[in-house]
Amino acid sequence: MLIDIDRLPKEGLRLSRDFEFASLDMVDENAVVLEPVHAEVFIRLVGEEIFVDGQVSVRLSFVCARCLTPFEFPVASRFDLVYLPEELDPLSDSLSDEEIDKMYYSGRQLDLRAVVLEQLNLTLPGKPLCANDCEGICTVCGELVRTGKCSCLVKEPDPRWSKLKFTVRDKR
Ligand SMILES: [Zn+2]
Ligand SMILES: [Zn+2]
Repeated sequence: MLIDIDRLPKEGLRLSRDFEFASLDMVDENAVVLEPVHAEVFIRLVGEEIFVDGQVSVRLSFVCARCLTPFEFPVASRFDLVYLPEELDPLSDSLSDEEIDKMYYSGRQLDLRAVVLEQLNLTLPGKPLCANDCEGICTVCGELVRTGKCSCLVKEPDPRWSKLKFTVRDKR
């Protein structure tokens, strides 16, 4: 959905739209998009800068990195952005760190779909977990630990954890 900058009303434009995205659109292709992505945005032009603020919300589904169980991941993310005209950006390679973070629009248009997708992608977890304390799958019997089906008394020793286990036991 392209927003024509020169046709934006002076008082700004308020939009409420749904966007269809597929897993392939996401930075993490394992993300399953369960419904259209709902976006509420307010767009206004101040001088040559486009101010876009609003919210994206959707329910996604991921497979837990530890227990491999699919789980729902609700997104409700607010954003507040400023886009600068690309034409004004000098083609210099002396960009400061601050300028690298800035966003640009070109051709007097702003692609709202791309804005929404970018904001959505920023909310995705690097390592999806069904719960922060998910115990995952037992390395000995292959059962999910939390279902109680695993009754292994001896867990596969992992040298990385031996030190941690020791301190936990000490505290009891
Ligand atoms: Zn899990
Ligand atoms: Zn087990």
